[in-house]
Amino acid sequence: MLRKLPYLLLSLVVVLLFSIFSPKETSAISLKDIPAKYKTEIDYLVNKNLIAGYPGGYFYPDRSVTREEAATIIGRTIGLNGAQRQTSFTDVNSSSFGSGYIQSAYEKGIISGHGEGIFHPKNPITRGEMAYLIASAFNLTEKSEIYFNDVATSGTLFEAINKVATAGITVGYPDGTFGPNKSITRAEFSVFVARSLNPDFKVNVQPKPTGERIVSASTLNVRSGPGASFNQVGVLANGSKVTTYQYVGDWVYISYGTIQGYVNSNYLKGTSTPNVGANVIAIDPGHGGSDPGAMANGLKEKEINLDVSLRIKKYLEDAGIKVVMTRTNDTFISLDGRVDYAVKNGADTFVSIHTNSATASSASGTETYYSAAALNPRAESSKQLATFIQKRLLEAWGTTDRGVKEAGFRVIKANPLPATLVELGFITNSGDANKLGSNEYRESAAKAISLGIQDYYNWKNR
Ligand SMILES: [Zn+2]
Repeated sequence: MLRKLPYLLLSLVVVLLFSIFSPKETSAISLKDIPAKYKTEIDYLVNKNLIAGYPGGYFYPDRSVTREEAATIIGRTIGLNGAQRQTSFTDVNSSSFGSGYIQSAYEKGIISGHGEGIFHPKNPITRGEMAYLIASAFNLTEKSEIYFNDVATSGTLFEAINKVATAGITVGYPDGTFGPNKSITRAEFSVFVARSLNPDFKVNVQPKPTGERIVSASTLNVRSGPGASFNQVGVLANGSKVTTYQYVGDWVYISYGTIQGYVNSNYLKGTSTPNVGANVIAIDPGHGGSDPGAMANGLKEKEINLDVSLRIKKYLEDAGIKVVMTRTNDTFISLDGRVDYAVKNGADTFVSIHTNSATASSASGTETYYSAAALNPRAESSKQLATFIQKRLLEAWGTTDRGVKEAGFRVIKANPLPATLVELGFITNSGDANKLGSNEYRESAAKAISLGIQDYYNWKNR
């Protein structure tokens, strides 16, 4: 019926939708048409002001959700900047209610359009698209042997749907299908989001602890969702040892006794050395095994990265800093596997070591990357870390300063820890390659990077 309304009326409906999706307007309890099967999840979202009912007390669980509404609710859920503004899409103008969330999600690589510059904001979002949105918004990495009859393993959505199913966010339909091209209903949408946010709602999977961390702030608020605007559900004292489950941006879902909820992970430290000020760094030698990285001038990137990383480890351990290495020999590890390993082994910071290359042999110099993909405190820490390392490396090597840069490389973007990626120099440039191939320069780079990391910890623990 809705689909047959003339355009003008449709825009009115959209305006109305905006107001009912607005957090201020919700009255949680009295929605009349919520299916019993999904009541817990929908109540949870309504009570968090993430989704709202319609005037008259209806939720309309079977209605579809537009791509713009989906981006808005997800953006609100993970704390993106929703200020309405110009977007990269020709069909989303700045006055559109979701323009801010759409643009923020696009900049962070959470959504892509339909082809060049087109978003189709008013199209209903499909279950497959929703899986993709959830998998990237919540940094889902784990995959498993779960298959649906109607999702080809070669298809573009296979991976996202698999991750969402592995995480216990969906089980698909009883007939073994997932329905990737069907419009998602408001009820299904709510269930996806609620299960993404709250590990207690997940199906067929026990919430899996990822590790233990220690509260480093004098007190730490526990909240019902991943952001400071969510209700406070508890307070933890300094030194409390919490069990961690899942990260959403800078926030991590924890349990401590009977308290469960999200805390800001910047106020947690690793447990392996529980005294305050103890630091655990993950050093990630890029590439390895079947993936050699860049090759030129008789050098292989994977070998340089590993050798320099092992030398960094030695310097850091000498300085009393615990080091977690994502690899210590010539093996292949996935990008997400590197991050998982670091987190599970109690690292509080992540440094990936790489060697640059270019088609033009004239390109040369040192650069260090960070990602602003997460919420602000982690992005700020990551940038500081990159800045300290870049400065020390330039002092040691005297290479061209290509600067500290923002980029969405997966190991630094899909990473709950402050993270940076160092490009020592260009393997394709003869001057840089001389340094990259030299024991003395590898040693001085390692020392410089370890000093940069110590600068960072001194700043962090100041
Ligand atoms: Zn590389």
